[in-house]
Amino acid sequence: MQLLIVNYHYFGEENQYPGGIYPISPERFKNQLAEIGRHFDFISQNDLIAALDGQRILPEQSCLITFDDGLKSQFTLALPILKEKKIPAVFFIGSLPLKENKVLNVHKIHYLLSVLTAEQLLKKVAAAYQNLLHKELPFEQIDFNNVKLENRYDQPLTSRLKFLLNKHLPNTEAEQVVDLIFQEQVKDEAEFCRQHYLNQTEVMAIADTPLMAIGLHSHRHPHLLSAAASLIARDFFENHRFLTEELNLKNIRAVSYPFGQISPEQLKEKILPWANGLGLKFGLTMGRQINQNLKEPFYLSRFDTNDLPQGKKPVISFDNL
Ligand SMILES: [Zn+2]
Repeated sequence: MQLLIVNYHYFGEENQYPGGIYPISPERFKNQLAEIGRHFDFISQNDLIAALDGQRILPEQSCLITFDDGLKSQFTLALPILKEKKIPAVFFIGSLPLKENKVLNVHKIHYLLSVLTAEQLLKKVAAAYQNLLHKELPFEQIDFNNVKLENRYDQPLTSRLKFLLNKHLPNTEAEQVVDLIFQEQVKDEAEFCRQHYLNQTEVMAIADTPLMAIGLHSHRHPHLLSAAASLIARDFFENHRFLTEELNLKNIRAVSYPFGQISPEQLKEKILPWANGLGLKFGLTMGRQINQNLKEPFYLSRFDTNDLPQGKKPVISFDNL
């Protein structure tokens, strides 16, 4: 078997932003779905779970479509296309924006990189860091040669800044620094949330749509490699509690890891101890491979849309599968 899992983030006019955010157009989305459909059978979350439970066999070449981060444009631009074509999908929701009208740090960074150049943002980050923490920003000291900068679409300085803010600095330090700069640029954070994220009604509407499912993507979007196991567990419990108790969703069965990165060792330490208890059946990384079996259900690999045919920087072709 071959199971292709594809992940999408922002939808919209391409070239709308100079950096940081890379929306894909509804047109490109349609073309890519058509291209995938020529080689793969689209499956739903329920199909995959039935296969994991040994109750059915997946088509030889299957594809699961997924969306991370609960972004509004997924609802307004992508969902209608999926409904029209009867293509199933799983939407992985970070709950902080829904619960508290607060923007996730990762999206504040995307936004700042779309309105400032990377050079401007680095200067502001250094000044804010000095201001808040009374020490020099540890940027020059990072040996980027040894760092895996996985965002293939960014300019070098952009990708270094993202590494610094999303992964290198402790979560609390990065959040304070980014928030200070974000508040200078965006006067009304709650309004920003209303514009950029799904609201509670929309999440519940997706859950009620045939073939669609909702999954966990953490509450605050911590970086799993650096965050402590106890913090990660608390964060996902809150994500699960919010979706099942406050939105009353019943069929939460999957998790997509924030930033898509986790090692097999960390999976054992930080995810598996509580995953079954929450009723989860599978978990998704951004390993950028086609899954050849279902032996590690919590370590299934995904591609980003841009990595695939009809994406912006394809790394594989479907012709020689
Ligand atoms: Zn995410």
